[in-house]
Amino acid sequence: MQTIMGVLITHNHVDHIRGLQVLVRKNSIPVFTSAKIWESILTPYVKISRDCIREIPLQQKFHVAGFDIEAFPVSHDAPETIGFHICQGEKKITVATDLGHICDTAAPYMKESNLLVIESNYDELMLENGKYPYYLKTRIKSDNGHLSNHQTSAFLADIINENLNHICLAHLSKNNNTPEIALSTFYNTLSERGIQLTGNHHISVLKRNMPTDMIRLDE
Ligand SMILES: [Zn+2]
Ligand SMILES: [Zn+2]
Repeated sequence: MQTIMGVLITHNHVDHIRGLQVLVRKNSIPVFTSAKIWESILTPYVKISRDCIREIPLQQKFHVAGFDIEAFPVSHDAPETIGFHICQGEKKITVATDLGHICDTAAPYMKESNLLVIESNYDELMLENGKYPYYLKTRIKSDNGHLSNHQTSAFLADIINENLNHICLAHLSKNNNTPEIALSTFYNTLSERGIQLTGNHHISVLKRNMPTDMIRLDE
C-alpha cells in the first residue's frame, strides 16, 4: 500500500468506488477527482477524510508522483464522468472506461496515447438477447451508456497508428460480453478495413476482478 501515491476516480457509480472508503481509511492515500464528482460521492453513507480529498480541474494538468495528468469529460449517465490522460516524458497513457460515445473532446487524448485503456463493454447480440430489462438495455446502448465492441473497434480502427502500441480492452460486461467476442470483433473490424497490425501492437483484454500485469511502454 505504501507504494500507492494516489487514486484517480472517474465517476460515482458503485463499481468504481465500492472499495474507496476502506482503501483510504487505513492508508490515507490522496484521491483525485473533480469537484462535481466529489459532491456526488460524499454522502452520509460515504465519508472520506479531508486529508485524502484532492479536487482537480478538468482539462488542466495536475501532477502526481512524477506524472502529468489531465482529466477530460466523457459522456456517461453519472453526475459527471471523466477519463484520464497520464504522461511522463514522451510516454502517454489514456484511460476511458465508461462512455456511451466518444465525443470530440475525448477522442484527441485517446489518439495521442502509447497505451490506451478503453471500454469495450458489450456485444450487441448478447445484450439484445439477454435477460436485462428493456430500460437497462436502452440505458446501456444510449449515448450516455457504454461502448459496444463494434463502437470501440470502429474507433480503434480509425485511430490506430504506430505509436499506439498497447490497446487494453476494458470494462467488459460480465453478462453481455466475453473476452473472445470483444477481441474477435476488434480483429474482424481491422481486417474488414484492410488494416494490418505490426509486431509493435499489443492487444489485450483486462480481467474484471484481477490486477493487470505490469505493462512496460519502452517495449
Ligand atoms: Zn458507470
Ligand atoms: Zn463502470
